[in-house]
Amino acid sequence: MTDALDLYLKANQDRFLAELRDLCRIPSETGDAKALDAAALWCAERLRAAKCDTREFRVDGEPALVVGETGAGKRTLICVQHYDVQPAVPLELWKSGPYEAAVRDGAVYARGADDNKGHLLLRIQAAEAYRAVHGDLPIRIRFLIEGEEEDGSAHLAELLAKDPTLTDGDGALKEGGAIDAAGRPALLLGGKGILYVELRHRSMSRDAHSGGATHLPNAAWRLVQALGTMVDPKGRVQIAGFYDDVRAPTPAELEHVRNLPFEADVLRKIYAIDGFAWGRPDSEARVASVYEPTCNIAGLLSGFTGEGTKTVIPSEAMVKIDFRLVPEQSPQKIRDLVRAHLDRHGFKDVELVAKEGTRPYRGRMDDPLVRAAQAAAEEAFGKPAMLIPSSGGTSPMWQVCGKRSLANVTLGMGHPNAGAHAPNEHILLENYWKAIRATVALYGRYATQV
Ligand SMILES: [Zn+2]
Repeated sequence: MTDALDLYLKANQDRFLAELRDLCRIPSETGDAKALDAAALWCAERLRAAKCDTREFRVDGEPALVVGETGAGKRTLICVQHYDVQPAVPLELWKSGPYEAAVRDGAVYARGADDNKGHLLLRIQAAEAYRAVHGDLPIRIRFLIEGEEEDGSAHLAELLAKDPTLTDGDGALKEGGAIDAAGRPALLLGGKGILYVELRHRSMSRDAHSGGATHLPNAAWRLVQALGTMVDPKGRVQIAGFYDDVRAPTPAELEHVRNLPFEADVLRKIYAIDGFAWGRPDSEARVASVYEPTCNIAGLLSGFTGEGTKTVIPSEAMVKIDFRLVPEQSPQKIRDLVRAHLDRHGFKDVELVAKEGTRPYRGRMDDPLVRAAQAAAEEAFGKPAMLIPSSGGTSPMWQVCGKRSLANVTLGMGHPNAGAHAPNEHILLENYWKAIRATVALYGRYATQV
């Protein structure tokens, strides 16, 4: 059955798609100040075109926080989004350029198409569509679009503090959103925190001939030995105190997650693996993805890694580690525990450099926002929605929702093979239109949902 919203989307699909490609062509990678500024400006102009009152907040030379507000009603929905993207490298793995925004077989390929430009744009387009089809927006919508999300939202708290009313609201629509391979919408109601660290070791003033490996200290071995003390073969983090602040799920919470559909076979197929890491059976993998913190080696660097051979003793070694944290772990406290762990195991010579980190946040499931999003998603995608208490990833919801313990939810269109943070990131247009429909429905339902 075709309705007025279908007709509107059909009439505007070329324009909406052109806008998406336009935004995706801006290479707003972390650290590229010029491109980040261009993306912020693009967002501000698009918000203005959608009848938003638009403001911009900045701290010394960092990417802007773009704020847009529109609509009126007794509830305020805070849309927390970002215009920065992960680096597109390695470029040779992309079938078309990451900033070409090529359209092939009903999909748009671009770095950021899924995370988070497609999602941020469709939420703005949905506000426009709502007005065109239904009239006045029955809620207040506040877009908070930052440019440092992929880099840990380092200044978001400071930016939000410039106007404390920015976080006054009733609920938050997070970045992103996904459906599983069976087409069921996955609504994420929280996210893990993150602590990102580098461990560095220098064993001597310069590299040496490996004939001296009997007596000259090898930085790579030293670092590998330090790493070996941090996680056991079952994935349990061995840092003393690491789990002390973890809020254990209640039996009801555990039951809820165990009963969620989990596409273990789809995951194994996508990654071409026989089984999950740490020997985790499927049921445990699902629960861990929601409730377990992690210690992940993101990159290792030492010695000679080029083609052929070079017999050398590396004098330097470096590893990057991300810890995904769960409530109520604090990144600052975990950093101190990592330092203490290294010291206790005799690795005082391993340097620890830590970024500030983001706190984890899990919002309420029993909330009008979650009920409205669930109904909207099920209506648009025609499948039962899954309420997932936490994403495995991080978004800065603690900064936005922590003060008032707001519920938060994702509602979007990513699919299991979308390739966020990886080469050939893409979105399927069929899902894009459905996600706009779902978002239009959310704006309407949330106004009166009990
Ligand atoms: Zn993101």
